[in-house]
Amino acid sequence: MKILRLHPGKERSLLRRHPWIFESAIAKGGGDAGETVRVESHNGDFLAWAAFSPQSRIRARVWSFDAHQRIDADFFDAACASAIAARSRFDIDSDGMRLVHGESDGLPGLVVDRYGDTLVAQFQSAGAERWKAPLADALLRHSGAARLYERSDTNSRKLEGLAPATGWLRGDGPVALVMREHSWQLELNIAQGHKTGFYLDQRDSRQAFARAARHRQWPTVLNCFSYTGGFGVAALHGGAGHVTSIDSSASALALARTNMERNGFDANRYDFLDADVNAALRQYGADGRSFDAIVLDPPKFAPTIAHAERAARAYKDINRLALKILNPGGFLFTFSCSGGISVDLFHKIVASAGIDAGVDGYITHHLGGAPDHPMTIQFPEGEYLKGLVISRK
Ligand code: SAH
Repeated sequence: MKILRLHPGKERSLLRRHPWIFESAIAKGGGDAGETVRVESHNGDFLAWAAFSPQSRIRARVWSFDAHQRIDADFFDAACASAIAARSRFDIDSDGMRLVHGESDGLPGLVVDRYGDTLVAQFQSAGAERWKAPLADALLRHSGAARLYERSDTNSRKLEGLAPATGWLRGDGPVALVMREHSWQLELNIAQGHKTGFYLDQRDSRQAFARAARHRQWPTVLNCFSYTGGFGVAALHGGAGHVTSIDSSASALALARTNMERNGFDANRYDFLDADVNAALRQYGADGRSFDAIVLDPPKFAPTIAHAERAARAYKDINRLALKILNPGGFLFTFSCSGGISVDLFHKIVASAGIDAGVDGYITHHLGGAPDHPMTIQFPEGEYLKGLVISRK
């Protein structure tokens, strides 16, 4: 059994059940990539069983805080069963959902999404990589899904010193799938799409947008960073008059068009703009065009707190530009999925954007990730996605 001995005082976060052990906390010891190590305080007290990762700054990730727990195939079988069972208690109106959300489900480094009968998994850490085969078997057994595709091509994998790996791990089938979300359908591609193919975490916010559209019958909607058009589909479903989707990815926009067609909307109710959002918002401002509802759902500008300052400026810019072209009484749905930007900071950024734009608004709702992307009370880093709904005065 390999041992990881920590520096004095470094046991504190583990005693609070936080699952990460940073390189700087370690006095001595270690193991091979993904090997289970016994983590001990400076005086030899047991703290946790963790997966060692020789190259990552997060040098070990905890599997269990129970000294008597064996870390074996049965352990992973039970952890998958428990994560999947939790989803049946959550409020998820879709056949696409996240089944395993890493640390929040006690499985650091593992992300698994379900689209109907197909699972898509990302093994992002040395520990998850090491237990890949038993994890894949357990996931199929407990979900009842027919096949599992691997999308281990994430950045986090690079930080762990692991090469990318993609393709069918169990069974095979089409990579272009159609999922149902609320009362609409969305096509996605699990081999080429972002993440595992789709942004499942925004499911409830898309529904909130559809509901707001139904209530207010917005004539014009601008969906910025549209990806495959989810928020636009929601708005048209709710009864908005017209949606313009902006994205800088031509393939995302092609799929957005397919999604509009698939849901049967009249072709004069939507159009697309392949452009940089910042430039497009400036152009609309210069042209005097305005909208009744705007969505801002940009990519992660600040993956960690170290990037927060530059990211804050980027968030402020797009929010200022959007508020300027929002009609009075109109609605802005604005999001940040940056772990490095707290809810508080995001609120402040949007407040400064409003001051610079000379616009005030009511904050009518706070939004967050869907419940199948949970944070837990012991892992606050799990809160990455936040949104504000603002109605312009
Ligand atoms: N709202 C989407 C998810 C958005 S993901 C949904 O509900 O599914 C972020 C998107 O922003 C990606 O599709 C990416 O192609 C796009 N993007 C990134 N930078 C951009 C930029 N500067 N201008 C326009 N689109 C951009």
